[in-house]
Amino acid sequence: MAQVIGFIGLGIMGRPMAHHLLKAGYPLVVHDRVRDPVDELQKAGARTAGSPRDVAAACEVLITMLPNSPDVELVALGPGGIVEGARPGLLYADMSTISPIVSQKVGQALAAKGVRMLDAPVSGGEKGAIDGVLSIMVGGEQAVFDTLLPIFKVMGKTITRLGPLGFGGFTKLANQIIVAVNLAALAEALTLGKKAGLDRELLLTALAGGLAGSKCLEQKRSNYLAGTYNPGFKVDLHYKDLGLIMESARELGVPLPTTAVVQELFSALRVKGRGGLDHSGVITLLEDLAGASP
Ligand code: NAD
Repeated sequence: MAQVIGFIGLGIMGRPMAHHLLKAGYPLVVHDRVRDPVDELQKAGARTAGSPRDVAAACEVLITMLPNSPDVELVALGPGGIVEGARPGLLYADMSTISPIVSQKVGQALAAKGVRMLDAPVSGGEKGAIDGVLSIMVGGEQAVFDTLLPIFKVMGKTITRLGPLGFGGFTKLANQIIVAVNLAALAEALTLGKKAGLDRELLLTALAGGLAGSKCLEQKRSNYLAGTYNPGFKVDLHYKDLGLIMESARELGVPLPTTAVVQELFSALRVKGRGGLDHSGVITLLEDLAGASP
């Protein structure tokens, strides 16, 4: 019998991930503080629960896909949280991008209730979630990883266990350095191209075929061509990740000069009220600076 899976956090990423689990035949119990995606999953065959506690009480495997560390702490350990409903033996994978230190803290608190936790953040964007091809970066016990691997395979393609709890998070932070810097570089390159009078479509095609080609370029190509930056992955969330990155870097004694500059670009975007744009929208700031806005 397939394990009953609880799923909390049905946003841009969680919604398609939960749909994949349902389609794969797992009984699903879902919860979100927003009603619409809950109704949608219910129509597709999921059961619903009114609180994280009730989800935890109803499942054998629990997944969360929430914005940030305080959200995971609240859902896991707060009033009406997972800790109140979990039975010993519950397996819990937090797939959000949060502080690895907070993952370890939540894991310790839940272990006292007999819950075994993995941190399993993902990369691949909304498209990766919809196509079920995410890269899933996992930290935690090998035995729990082995048990959950078939479930991860429903949502992802590259699934890697990197070490103990928290190591998934550190890997995701490394990933987010590369994506943020890559998008800032694309923004500068395309703004230069714009002021030089280059055709953007031809420019993107030429770049994609050489060493400058990247998944970022491929996935964001349509945004750059349309000049519209609907999320996707919000600037606000990537700014959150940049904060987690700098926090970890300070703790570990790693200077990250390039990332620090990109963090300031994302900060400026938020000041301009563009935190809700897709992170590829960092180009709008570079275009402003160059006097090349549409
Ligand atoms: P989102 O804001 O679209 O979704 C988050 C969901 O969590 C929302 O539906 C929200 O209502 C729900 N939620 C928040 N607090 C809650 C609470 N206390 N109780 C119940 N539900 C609650 O965010 P997203 O884009 O789906 O991202 C989720 C996580 O995945 C983030 O950590 C993000 O950094 C990471 N991530 C996102 C992408 C992407 O492309 N969007 C890619 C990789 C990783």
